[in-house]
Amino acid sequence: MQRLRHSYVSGLTRPHSWRIKQLKQLALLLETHESELLAALHSDLGKSAAEGWLTELGYLTTDIEHTCKHLRKWMKPKRVSQPLMAWPGKSFLHPEPLGVVLIIGAWNYPLQLLLSPMVAALAAGNCVILKPSELAPATADLMAKLLPDYLANEAVQVVNGGAEVAQQLLEQKFDHIMYTGGGRVGRIVMKAAAEHLTPVTLELGGKSPAVVLADADLKTSARRIAWGKWLNAGQTCIAPDYVLVDESVKEPFLVALREAIEDFFGSDPGSADDYGRIVNEQHWQRLVAYLEQGNIHHGGEIDRQLRYIEPTILTDVAVDSPVMQEEIFGPILPILTVPNLASAIEFIRERDKPLALYGFSGSSRSLKQLTEQTHAGNQCSNDTLMFMLNPKLPFGGVGPSGMGRYHGKFGFDTFSHQKAVMQRPFWFDPKFRYPPYTSFKQKL
Ligand code: NAD
Repeated sequence: MQRLRHSYVSGLTRPHSWRIKQLKQLALLLETHESELLAALHSDLGKSAAEGWLTELGYLTTDIEHTCKHLRKWMKPKRVSQPLMAWPGKSFLHPEPLGVVLIIGAWNYPLQLLLSPMVAALAAGNCVILKPSELAPATADLMAKLLPDYLANEAVQVVNGGAEVAQQLLEQKFDHIMYTGGGRVGRIVMKAAAEHLTPVTLELGGKSPAVVLADADLKTSARRIAWGKWLNAGQTCIAPDYVLVDESVKEPFLVALREAIEDFFGSDPGSADDYGRIVNEQHWQRLVAYLEQGNIHHGGEIDRQLRYIEPTILTDVAVDSPVMQEEIFGPILPILTVPNLASAIEFIRERDKPLALYGFSGSSRSLKQLTEQTHAGNQCSNDTLMFMLNPKLPFGGVGPSGMGRYHGKFGFDTFSHQKAVMQRPFWFDPKFRYPPYTSFKQKL
């Protein structure tokens, strides 16, 4: 902490050239150690190389390129207009770094969720302490081994360990904390931050619904929902958690969903290269308990030793059962029916504001209604997850699904303070602004 604080105060991290150098070094690390990183992701989560590239390495490479391309513009102070009362003069928003920041990562995308916030924090000129998730140990170890060889050690440190280490870190006085993970620990982080009045960004989770209306292209909707759900074996914070389908199209939708699973992973997903594993035994057991809370319409095969759970569709699920009360965060998809869009909207509004919301319909009017009448951190119409690919869109939750945002310029802003700066010249200094405030002046 002291070393980082010292580096920050010395001004090391301020120049544009230093920031770009760190980002380019990170890109070089990702390129040079691609196969080791993909192997670590496979060891932690059974992630295929293609998936690891798409959702982690490739994602980060694009993130770095976008940031390097726009950084000079983002760093530039922005002039704003000057009101007559403060004339003559100039006003600016001057982005300045926050200082030393802590980034606590989650295990499900252990590279992306640790390094993408770091890209934003370094771009904004901060020193960074990274705390990878201990539940993805191969990736966490590799981070501790590789990052010191590529990034300025006096500005970036990796601290590995579990909850105890995280809590020791949280006792330190940081200038910002970004935490990605569940709401239970989110509350611990926020309480610890309050001790030092440290601002936090919390990237949390929740139950993200997918609504399928009768006029949707059912085959494409099913494929896109299946892709978003069973990527990383359902361990994606923005995966569709459950589906509300119009009751008139439930049967053809289920047929299309089963076909999509078979198309993607064959008749035995357990032997498919592109299907992942549950992160650990504890999560595996938590998920297996959900299988009894509905009718297994499809899937349901499990293997404890391999931490495998087949892509599973549940029907006839009670809304008060744990599988519909808790975030599933695994490869089990409950399908519920609704009579119409209005009931789907009501269902969503009665529950916590989700991290993501997906609507499927051929009618732009219905989709607009869904957007306008519900709350969610992010929304995607007629697809899942794809909004993550646009760096011009912020990513973040609302209410219990999180606070604050990042990606692209939004990440730079999260790790910056927009200092309000006004410059005034000496040459105009009329007496009427100063006491004594005579009655004539008061009229002015
Ligand atoms: P996790 O268990 O990896 O925990 C996240 C981090 O919190 C880890 O680094 C861990 O060491 C730390 N931690 C654990 N206990 C702690 C404690 N007592 N004090 C301080 N730190 C502690 O992750 P998880 O919570 O299992 O993650 C799953 C949740 O994260 C899901 O709810 C998911 O939706 C959410 N998530 C959100 C996003 C997002 O970007 N919004 C991304 C991924 C996951």
